[in-house]
Amino acid sequence: MLTWPAPQIPQLPGQGGPVRVRDTSTGELVVAAPGPDATLYVCGITPYDATHLGHAATYVAFDLLVRAWLDEGKRVRYASNVTDVDDPLLERAEATGVDWRELAADQTALYLEDMTALGVVPPDVYTGAVESVPDVVAAVRAMVASGTAYVVGAPDAHGQGAADVYADVSADPAFGEVARLDRDAMLALFGERGGDPARPGKRDPLDPLLWRSARPGEPSWDGGDLGHGRPGWHIECAVIARDGIGLPFDVQGGGSDLRFPHHEMSTSHARLLDAGHGARSHVHTGMVGLHGEKMSKSLGNLVLVSRLRADGVDAMAVRLAILDHHYATDWEWTDDVLRAGRARLERWRASVSGNGGPAADATLAEVRAALADDLDAPRALRAVDAWADASLAGDATEVHEGAPGVIARTVNALLGVRL
Ligand code: ZN
Repeated sequence: MLTWPAPQIPQLPGQGGPVRVRDTSTGELVVAAPGPDATLYVCGITPYDATHLGHAATYVAFDLLVRAWLDEGKRVRYASNVTDVDDPLLERAEATGVDWRELAADQTALYLEDMTALGVVPPDVYTGAVESVPDVVAAVRAMVASGTAYVVGAPDAHGQGAADVYADVSADPAFGEVARLDRDAMLALFGERGGDPARPGKRDPLDPLLWRSARPGEPSWDGGDLGHGRPGWHIECAVIARDGIGLPFDVQGGGSDLRFPHHEMSTSHARLLDAGHGARSHVHTGMVGLHGEKMSKSLGNLVLVSRLRADGVDAMAVRLAILDHHYATDWEWTDDVLRAGRARLERWRASVSGNGGPAADATLAEVRAALADDLDAPRALRAVDAWADASLAGDATEVHEGAPGVIARTVNALLGVRL
C-alpha cells in the first residue's frame, strides 16, 4: 500500500545515546535495538472509525522511538499493516450498507491524512491484509505441513460448511511469554477479543484461527489446497513482519489491548514460521479514555483526529497534548488536555521567534536523555518549557544567536513538533 509523505527531519548537532524501552513481556528496561539496525513492527488499524485519539497516541509513541533511533544513527526499518479485511470491518460495512472495500479505502485515506498532519514518520513497509493473502496462504500451508497447524471441520457432500485452519499453541514452547497470563485470564480475554474458545474440534480452546474458509456473503480468496477463504488476524501480522523486516526483529508495538491475544499469537506464529524467532521485545501503549471510559469503537466514545482538524485545531497542538502523557500510562482526553497542548504550542512558537535566546545545548541533551529513558516525552516537554520560559522572560545572562533555531530543530527532529 502507499504510505503518507515523510516529514522532513532536521539535522541536529551531536548524537543521541542508546534508547531504552520497557519490554512489557518481562517488565524490564531493555536497549530497544542492540545492533546497528533497528527494526520495528507496529500493528496498524482496522480501517473503520479511523483515527481516534487512542490510535494517534500509539503511532505518535512509536514515532518517538523511530526518531530517537534515527538520532542515535541507527538504520531503521519500520513495518506496519492495515487490516483491510476482518470481522469488525465486515460487520460495520454490513451494518451501514457500505461496500467493505469502500469503507476500508475511505478510512485508510483518512488515517493517512491524520498521520501526515501529526508529522508521523511513515513505515518503510506498509502492507494491507488483502495484499498479504498469497504470503499468508503459503505460511499457513507450511504450518499445516509441519504439523504446527491443523484443519477443523470439513465441507459436506455439497461442498458447503467450514474447514478452517488453526494454529496448535502447544507446538510453541514459548507460548504465553508475551502476556504472561494464567490460563483462565487467557481464556477470558481470548473470548472477549475475537477468539473462539468454544469452537468444537480444536485441540486447545486457545488455538487461534489462521485461515477461515469462505462463508456465504463474505469475501474470500483462493487458498490453494486450503480452499477459498480469508486470513486470520494474527498470522497476517506475523507474515507481514517476517517478509517486511525479517525475523527476529527488535520491537513489536501496539496498544496494551493487543498484548493478548494478538501479540501473543502473532509472535507465536512468527516463532513457528522461523525456527523460534519472533520479536525481541514488546512495547505497549496505554489506553486513552474519554469521560471515564476507554475510547473504543465498540463504546462509540471516539474523539477523531480528523474531526479536531476539521474544527481548526492545529495537529501540532494535538501532538503536544498526546506527548504530555507517558506512552505507557492510561490517560483521559479532556478539553483541558487539548487547551494545554494549544497553549504550549503557542508559547513555544513565540519563544523561538526572536533572534537569540538562552543556550540550547543543555536543553537538547535533556530532550535526548528523556527520550532514551523509555521515551519519557513529558520530561522532554518540561525541558523545552524551561528553555521557552527563560527565552520569553529575556533573562538569559548571555544571548546565543543560534539558540532558537537549535530548539526549533530539536523539537521538530526528536518530538515531531513543527514550530
Ligand atoms: Zn498486528
